[in-house]
Amino acid sequence: MRTRRAAPASAALINSAPPPRFYVGDGAGASATPANAVGTGATALHPAALPGVALTFDDGPSPLYTPRVLDVLRRYHTPATFFVVGYHALQYPDLVRAEARAGMTVGDHSFDHPNYPPFAALTAAQIDTEIAQGRNALRGLAPPPRLFRPPGGSFSPYVEAAAHRLGLRVTLWSVDPTDWAAGVSSRQIVARVLGAVRPGSIVIMHDGGGNRAATVAALPAIIAGIRAKGLRLVALRE
Ligand SMILES: [Zn+2]
Repeated sequence: MRTRRAAPASAALINSAPPPRFYVGDGAGASATPANAVGTGATALHPAALPGVALTFDDGPSPLYTPRVLDVLRRYHTPATFFVVGYHALQYPDLVRAEARAGMTVGDHSFDHPNYPPFAALTAAQIDTEIAQGRNALRGLAPPPRLFRPPGGSFSPYVEAAAHRLGLRVTLWSVDPTDWAAGVSSRQIVARVLGAVRPGSIVIMHDGGGNRAATVAALPAIIAGIRAKGLRLVALRE
């Protein structure tokens, strides 16, 4: 399925046993923890483990927006993490190479970005294939990925185990300005991010999957605002 729109994470909730290896952001029980992570008891990323804030960009690479996002990140000397969709990586390999060359972390965001049914509701074989092909699409373009972000944030113990078998850690987020929503302005994106970030936050934004002009326009103020709070911007490393 190639319908490319980020689904609200909470719609994708399939929630049971705590996954043993997991990035959520902010620490367990944080108010900013996304609905799809609440109550998992997951080994959340503790602020001590991430001395700063991680900006993450999903659904690219996009020839329209990824170069612009990279330009801003380079201009402000800001490391970040890109969760790329496998078939886009095959379409635009130079953009993935550019991300890696710029010192960004590149993670697996599945091959086809299936949205419906939610990722965790796919068959085991489909989940395995999506994760593996997404990872394989990055071969030769970026260092082997260590992080997997399921489409829509939809995870289950099976998704976590499947990712783990391939050496990938499921990575969610703790701050979601819903930059993908129609009509959202760059000012709203800035306000939502700066109103929520704290040490250990993982912020989800998008450099692909639709018109990301507002996200690009919001980035300089987001970076400056986070630094003004005394927080460091970091790329996620495994
Ligand atoms: Zn996505």
